Amino acid sequence: MKERDFDFQRILAPLLSWYRANKRALPWRENPTPYQVWVSEIMLQQTRVEAVKEYYRRFLDALPTVEALAECEEEKLLKLWEGLGYYSRVRNMQKTAKILLSAYGGEFPNTKAELCALPGIGSYTAGAILSIAFGLPTPAVDGNVFRVASRLETNSSLISDPKYRKYLEETLSKVYPATGKDCADFTQSLFELGALICKPNPDCRLCPLTGLCRAYQKGVQREFPVLPEKKAKRQESVYVFMIETPFGFCIRRRESGVLKGMNEFPSTIVTGESPESVLSAWGITEFEEVRRKAFTHIFTHIRWNITCLWLKTESAPFDAYTLDELAESVSLPTAFKQCLEILR
Ligand code: SF4
Repeated sequence: MKERDFDFQRILAPLLSWYRANKRALPWRENPTPYQVWVSEIMLQQTRVEAVKEYYRRFLDALPTVEALAECEEEKLLKLWEGLGYYSRVRNMQKTAKILLSAYGGEFPNTKAELCALPGIGSYTAGAILSIAFGLPTPAVDGNVFRVASRLETNSSLISDPKYRKYLEETLSKVYPATGKDCADFTQSLFELGALICKPNPDCRLCPLTGLCRAYQKGVQREFPVLPEKKAKRQESVYVFMIETPFGFCIRRRESGVLKGMNEFPSTIVTGESPESVLSAWGITEFEEVRRKAFTHIFTHIRWNITCLWLKTESAPFDAYTLDELAESVSLPTAFKQCLEILR
C-alpha cells in the first residue's frame, strides 16, 4: 500500500503553531549555530534527549568552537564522550573539525553536497544543520520524521529503503518556507511531534494533525512506519580482567574487534580457555581472585556475556591507573565501566 497523493503542505501551519506553543526548552535550541546543531545532532543519534543534555553542556563548555575540537587531545575527547558510546562518532567529529579548519576557515559550508562530504555527516545531519542553523529549506529525515510522515499518508514503504528517504526528502522540501526561522521551526516541529505525541504508541488525542492523518482516520497508526526485520545479535562470551596491582588497575588499548582503539580492562573473547591460561599468557601466574561477576552488555550487532574477574597481583603487565585517574582522565567505554561495580 503506497498512497502518495497526500498534501503535506497542509501540515505546515498547524504544526508550526503547535510547535511554538509546545516545544521543549533544550540547551541546543538556545543558540543554534551550525557547530551547536551539529554537536547536538551527533550526540542525539542513538541517545535519548534527557541523557544528552548534560553531555552537551559539558562538551560545549570544554570545546566551544570548531578550533577547540580540532585541537583537543584524544584522551580528553574520548573522556568527554564517555558513556555516549559509538565512539566513531566523536572521532569523525574531530576529523571534520580539522577539515573545517583547514578548508573552510573554521566555518561550516552551507550546501548539502559539501556537508555530506565531511566525515560522519549524512543527509539527515546535513539537513538539520542547514535548516536549523542556516534557515534553509532542507529536510532532516530521522526516525521520528519517518514515523510521522508514514502515518500521515499511510505509506508502507520500508524506512530502510533509500528510495523512500529520497522521496520523503523531496516531498518535504517542497513544503518548507523559502528561508528563515520557519525552516528551522518546521524541521524541529516534525522532530518534536514524533518525540512527544506521534510516538511508537501515539497519543493522537493531543496531536494537531488528527484532521489530516490517514492512519488516525483508519485506526491503523501502529502499522506505521514499516521497519526492517531485526537480525538476531551475535553472542560472544568475554572475560574481563580487573587486574589490581600496587600501581593501580591495568588498562590497555583494544587492538581489534568492537571498540577497537578504546581503553579496556584487559579482556578476551572466550573460546574454551580458562581465566588462568589467559592470565598466564600475560605473565601473571600468581594472583588472588577477589571477586567475579557475570553480566550482559548489548552492542548494536553483538551481545557480550561478560564474566568480570577482579584479581590482585604484584606485577603490572599493562599500564596501571588509580581509581581517581580512571574517574577523571582515562576514558572507559560503558561495557568496561560497568565492571567497576564489582568493587562495591
Ligand atoms: S494523528 Fe496520531 S498517528 Fe497521526 S500524526 Fe498525529 S499522533 Fe501521529
